[in-house]
Amino acid sequence: MPLRKEKRTYADRAEYMKTAVVKRRKKLKDMAIEYGGGKCQVCGYDRCKRALSFHHKEPSQKDFGLSSRGLTRSWEKTKIEIDKCILVCANCHMEIHEGMVNI
Ligand SMILES: [Zn+2]
Ligand SMILES: [Zn+2]
Repeated sequence: MPLRKEKRTYADRAEYMKTAVVKRRKKLKDMAIEYGGGKCQVCGYDRCKRALSFHHKEPSQKDFGLSSRGLTRSWEKTKIEIDKCILVCANCHMEIHEGMVNI
């Protein structure tokens, strides 16, 4: 019985660590969105944060999304990257890439 309890504690801890990482990423995402203006900089859309992404103003540079992979870097580096980007919703982002919106 005590052994089992220890195992469970370890599993709980692993679970806790996982949750902490998810929370941290979510927080970074919220911070990134807020830093980028909190809404689509073209049309003002802010209903669904998942529909927002960063469009790089420099065409030779890659856009970066708010997917967890893009936010594993430090906040300082993320901020530098956001300064070169514009926060837009998915629709406006597509329109920008289609050349329908001038930013
Ligand atoms: Zn928009
Ligand atoms: Zn883009």
